[in-house]
Amino acid sequence: MEILPKKPSAKGPAERFTGDVWNDDVVAGREPSRMRVNVVRFAPGARTAWHSHAVGQTLHVTEGIGLVQSRGGEVVVVRAGDTVHTPPGEWHWHGAAPDHFMTHLSLREGPGEGRGPESEWADHVTDDEYNAR
Ligand code: MN
Repeated sequence: MEILPKKPSAKGPAERFTGDVWNDDVVAGREPSRMRVNVVRFAPGARTAWHSHAVGQTLHVTEGIGLVQSRGGEVVVVRAGDTVHTPPGEWHWHGAAPDHFMTHLSLREGPGEGRGPESEWADHVTDDEYNAR
């Protein structure tokens, strides 16, 4: 057994996020585990840029009200207790609603040795995209 002490929270970088987003790593499993778990806290209006995950992603909303969208789909409201699964390679974004904080767990797996990056990142979500509801 190993107890890992709490590390400082990290601000989400401006290249990948709009607004104030804070990340805490929970688990970055050592091989053979490829488990990746983070807690991500979004201020109202904050969101990820468009991105995809090589092995998909499960989000579990633990607090507040958020928005999620897959490329070509509708912007969908999610609330504490909701779970969102994004399949491998599907482009999407997630964030807080305009006037609510949102916190989610992010559950992913690393792609495995020599299989490229865990995620790919593209453009920021514009205000028009964010407000298209
Ligand atoms: Mn994602």
